[in-house]
Amino acid sequence: MENPTVQNKRVIVCGGGVIGVCTAYFLAKKGASVTLIEKSSVACAASGKAGGFLALDWCDGGPVSNLARTSFNLHRSLALELNGPQSYGYRPLNTLSISLTETTSSSSPPQQQSSSSLLPEWVNGFAKNPKPIGTTETTAQVHPKLFTRTLISSAMNNYDLKLVIGELDRVEVEGNCAKSVILKGEEEGSRAIEADSIVLALGPWSARLPLISLLFRISGLKAHSIV
Ligand SMILES: Cc1cc2nc3c(=O)[nH]c(=O)nc-3n(C[C@H](O)[C@H](O)[C@H](O)COP(=O)(O)OP(=O)(O)OC[C@H]3O[C@@H](n4cnc5c(N)ncnc54)[C@H](O)[C@@H]3O)c2cc1C
Repeated sequence: MENPTVQNKRVIVCGGGVIGVCTAYFLAKKGASVTLIEKSSVACAASGKAGGFLALDWCDGGPVSNLARTSFNLHRSLALELNGPQSYGYRPLNTLSISLTETTSSSSPPQQQSSSSLLPEWVNGFAKNPKPIGTTETTAQVHPKLFTRTLISSAMNNYDLKLVIGELDRVEVEGNCAKSVILKGEEEGSRAIEADSIVLALGPWSARLPLISLLFRISGLKAHSIV
């Protein structure tokens, strides 16, 4: 539904990960005129490599509990709106936590512990301590790159959203107001993109902007991704 506070406002969103793309999608859907700036390609970083797990209650008791719960339910309605199961593999899941013991011996075939009646047949190796951690009501999964790219395509096709491939260099501020962004390689006097509002969603690169690092401490966290 269009919203008078954002309608026809020019918004620049910097960073084409899931956070930037979702922000751009919902602003454009509410009637804003959005430009998304991404230095490489949409979902090229963590947002294209994640496990894609969505959980209703795994953040309960922490500061983002309400956000996680709202987000889980929003995923359910987005999947209906954007044909999630077909477009980006949205699927509610039963979720199990297990421990695996690595073995270097190739002579002994992998076995499951006899106590593991919870384990599906396709789990091999020395799996133990299976513990349900979610049901189809509380856990789901998406293909993260397809999810992010489905959202941007939908916004570009249906709403006023433009994608610019370019690297944000800095944000120009006048008084207390962010006025425009300058892309790398473009000297002053050349194209600066002006906006009424600017959203910075650069993932771990956010800390490179003094505008952000003066306010928050942001750092990257390395994680493995088996694809
Ligand atoms: C292996 C792995 C598994 C994960 N599994 C899960 C999971 O199962 N469930 C879950 O909820 N989360 C998971 N996460 C976490 C999740 O992927 C991240 O929290 C999320 O993708 C962060 O999104 P983002 O948009 O903030 O950042 P990013 O995806 O890092 O996007 C930032 C974007 O900004 C762009 N950018 C940077 N600098 C500039 C610049 N100067 N100008 C223009 N663009 C710029 C980058 O190119 C990038 O595309 C996982 C993460 C990893 C690494």
